[in-house]
Amino acid sequence: FGTPSEPAATSWGRDGIDEVCWLADPPGGGRVAGALVPSLLALLSERSIELVLLPSTTFGRELAGALAARWDAAAATGVTGISHGAGGWEVRRSVFGGRATETRNLPGPRAVVGLRPRAFPTPEPREAQAGSTSQGAVGAGSWADGPALVGTEPVVTGEGPALGDATIVVAGGRGVRSADQFRLIEELAAALDAAVGASRAVTDAGWRPTSLQVGQTGRTVTPQLYIAVGISGAIQHIVGMIGSRVIVAINSDATAPIFKVADYGIVGDLFQIVPALTAEIRRVRGR
Ligand SMILES: Cc1cc2nc3c(=O)[nH]c(=O)nc-3n(C[C@H](O)[C@H](O)[C@H](O)COP(=O)(O)OP(=O)(O)OC[C@H]3O[C@@H](n4cnc5c(N)ncnc54)[C@H](O)[C@@H]3O)c2cc1C
Repeated sequence: FGTPSEPAATSWGRDGIDEVCWLADPPGGGRVAGALVPSLLALLSERSIELVLLPSTTFGRELAGALAARWDAAAATGVTGISHGAGGWEVRRSVFGGRATETRNLPGPRAVVGLRPRAFPTPEPREAQAGSTSQGAVGAGSWADGPALVGTEPVVTGEGPALGDATIVVAGGRGVRSADQFRLIEELAAALDAAVGASRAVTDAGWRPTSLQVGQTGRTVTPQLYIAVGISGAIQHIVGMIGSRVIVAINSDATAPIFKVADYGIVGDLFQIVPALTAEIRRVRGR
């Protein structure tokens, strides 16, 4: 959607893409998934397509449902694995707040599948051949009339990198005890150029905005390093950060469930450990 940028266009061949079609943004800019369905259906009917893959984002999930209903296809979102067998497409995804993984067969000849962002490795680049990717616009004004986007409000985020993209996340929980003392988490995050996250205990208490919440009813993050401070490790929190590459837990209770998923654990008082860690990281980084 939108107009392809030059760097994207040059990498298509290398990424294994044979053909790219795009749809210019609707007049006024607001994208509503349902309004895209008629032009997508026209595109699909010109080709013998069996599978449509979308990112399982808010927009992608809305589009998956709207498209599958009109295209008479099976649909699944939040998918972390997909294969094709004798019975058609088979998808895997996590259910019951991450406590189980289900494998589901999608009946019928067509399927719309929403892939969970970052659940799949980046494919190996292939030998790019000049002109190997053909391009074509679907046509301006193809967004059907229908529901319109009336307005958006910016999400309040912490200082530093955005939670969803951060390489390092430092998250604080109820153990931090107050809105004021939560600044210890922010200081450690700033020293590491990390994003700030929080457990639901923190956002429910109003210490920090819900946009920082990690977990089942918050954000899913997959940083290289996740530092959980004063967080017990409830399953609803774990499902939002279990994909992190390295997990460090700081908690005064050696039996806290967070230590079961942590690669490194520090048992002790966060009010002693976190300031010492922040000071040492600042010293090492020359700040
Ligand atoms: C439907 C549903 C959805 C939910 N969604 C989410 C979600 O998206 N995200 C989420 O986080 N939760 C979610 N929850 C809530 C979840 O079940 C937990 O209640 C919550 O995660 C607990 O937050 P916490 O770990 O900060 O607090 P607590 O469980 O109270 O843990 C605080 C921890 O701090 C430690 N501590 C205390 N003092 C210190 C100290 N001085 N030094 C070091 N450690 C200390 C304690 O040992 C304890 O382990 C959800 C619950 C439900 C029912």
